[in-house]
Amino acid sequence: MIAIFEREYRELRPRAPMPGLDIRFRRFTSLNTTIRLREGVLHVRLSDLLEAAPESVHHAIAHILLAKLYKKPIVASASDRYRRYVSSEAVARGAEHIRQTRGRKRISTPVGRIYDLDEVFESLNRRFFHGLLGRPTLTWSAHAARRMLGHYDAAHNTIVVSRIFDRPDTPRCAIEYLLYHEMLHLKHPVRVKAGRRCVHSREFQAEERLFPELVEAKEYLKRI
Ligand SMILES: [Zn+2]
Repeated sequence: MIAIFEREYRELRPRAPMPGLDIRFRRFTSLNTTIRLREGVLHVRLSDLLEAAPESVHHAIAHILLAKLYKKPIVASASDRYRRYVSSEAVARGAEHIRQTRGRKRISTPVGRIYDLDEVFESLNRRFFHGLLGRPTLTWSAHAARRMLGHYDAAHNTIVVSRIFDRPDTPRCAIEYLLYHEMLHLKHPVRVKAGRRCVHSREFQAEERLFPELVEAKEYLKRI
């Protein structure tokens, strides 16, 4: 991203000295983007919704922000490119999802009646990840959801496990498998390949098969 900004800066101001660049993607609840020049350093904050955008879109964003800042005309092809991208269905859906989920306060309780998710997480972390995974917020779902058994919410760095499993007759391997699967999501972030999201990559699936009680756990979950 820095190289892209440098190139767009050069285009726009061929002879001016290159400012310092501090460019970061932030968890904005919208497609918010800001640029500020402070003490010779350009501070740019971009919504993380734009992180996976194609390079041409990043160039367009850099051009638009710099042109605005230095009061230069914005090239029509750049504003077209940007507008087309943010109005694309995938981006619009992502933005809507974030609006609905972020900012909302959640009650998080890792300690259930039977199982303590923090404890299960740490034991899996030691057994399978050399204790290397940073523990996200772990919580039982507020309701006994049957549709969403387990889920990793990257925006909030939270793993939610459905409360229906917090019962004495749930085998520990089922909870462990659910959590293990979500921990693999922590370890293997979603990649965007040629505009498509790859959620369960080949590496992800290979690692999932290392779970010793995979068959029993899956069978139990199927009956739920
Ligand atoms: Zn998954």
